[in-house]
Amino acid sequence: MSVTADVVIIGGGIVGSSIAYNLTAQGCHNVLIIEREEKQGLGSTSKSMGGVRAQFATEINIQMSLYSIDVFSRFEELTGHTADYRAHGYLFCATTDAHLQYLRDNQDKQRALGLTNARMVSRDEITQMVPQLIADDMIGGAYCPTDGFVDPNSVMTGFSKRAREHGAQLWLNTAVTGIRVENGAIAGVQTTNGEIATRVVVNAAGPWAAGVAELAGIELPVTPLRRQIVKTQTCDFLPAKFPMVIDMSTGFHFRREGDAILLAWPDNEETYGFQTAFTHDFLEKILVRAVERVPQFETLPVNPKQCWAGMYEVTPDHHCIIGEAPTVKGLFFANGFSGHGVMHSPATGRLTADLIMRQQSFVDPKPLGVERFAEGRLLEETAVL
Ligand SMILES: Cc1cc2nc3c(=O)[nH]c(=O)nc-3n(C[C@H](O)[C@H](O)[C@H](O)COP(=O)(O)OP(=O)(O)OC[C@H]3O[C@@H](n4cnc5c(N)ncnc54)[C@H](O)[C@@H]3O)c2cc1C
Repeated sequence: MSVTADVVIIGGGIVGSSIAYNLTAQGCHNVLIIEREEKQGLGSTSKSMGGVRAQFATEINIQMSLYSIDVFSRFEELTGHTADYRAHGYLFCATTDAHLQYLRDNQDKQRALGLTNARMVSRDEITQMVPQLIADDMIGGAYCPTDGFVDPNSVMTGFSKRAREHGAQLWLNTAVTGIRVENGAIAGVQTTNGEIATRVVVNAAGPWAAGVAELAGIELPVTPLRRQIVKTQTCDFLPAKFPMVIDMSTGFHFRREGDAILLAWPDNEETYGFQTAFTHDFLEKILVRAVERVPQFETLPVNPKQCWAGMYEVTPDHHCIIGEAPTVKGLFFANGFSGHGVMHSPATGRLTADLIMRQQSFVDPKPLGVERFAEGRLLEETAVL
């Protein structure tokens, strides 16, 4: 007997889970999440640094963050599960006039969209927040106290559990191997567990999104790019609570996670592809940047076995793709978050569910449609970490 679902979501990470949560909250209960791994979160979700911020440069990213941070702040009330949202802030530190002006311009845009608590800070304020920083060359920065961190696995679990309480089903150990398109519309999916009849499919396959789109004959401009995270051993020389610090001169950024510190840096020598091995080479490169800013990092032990690598899902304009495929009715994309898929998961779930349910959303999702690449309507986000 063949199975029928109103909506099939391919991928059970944080994005697929949020879409399922939002669909069931809107009364669409016959939702099936298909995940090929034996448990959820083994893709990019569990590799994330968990950073959440509204300090962006484009309207759509700011609006998606404002929506999402509001959801994180009420997550337990909404899902019965914690997001572990910690509003410790993001602190961008500038060493050039151009960077400082860029932060000011961004704050004007953020304020116009309702982010009232982001503010410019002086070098003294920066060193008050993190006294261990070498800040001689810093000329100021931008700080927003409601930016911060969440636990990505916990958010995914909260969305997924509540969706299942409201009728959604989750199939683990099941890979989608084909998408059936008839007369330009979705008719079903083939899986390693048999066929499913459906009129709506959502691609929430993270770094594997382009391969899933190809199953429906569509070329999706989403490419995997390795990102590596260093986790230190117990650190007692930095404050117990301080914001995510971003050194704009190198892109190096760090934050506290429990006793340890997480260090990250966008290595521009990294090449696109499916690579998830943590490398010693990266460790050496990032520690140079880290010690330049906080000399005590030189003596802080790092166990490479506790460090990790995962993949960003990158689009040509570093904005996500949300919307229906122009050539296949019923195929929706929620892909290409370019480093922001955790923080934007609440907004993505809502926008995608609203599109499927033909509801007006909290913001017009049209600028995020995949057709923008063919039409030359790119949305350049310059505040990418
Ligand atoms: C090192 C690192 C740090 C990051 N830091 C941040 C951060 O600070 N803040 C932030 O917001 N974001 C961050 N990100 C990005 C964020 O992790 C991703 O954007 C987000 O997790 C994407 O979620 P997803 O659900 O779309 O993808 P995933 O979590 O990858 O889920 C996709 C799922 O689809 C499944 N799948 C794929 N193909 C198939 C198929 N054919 N059939 C069935 N299942 C399939 C996979 O198994 C996978 O579980 C970071 C990423 C990395 C790698």
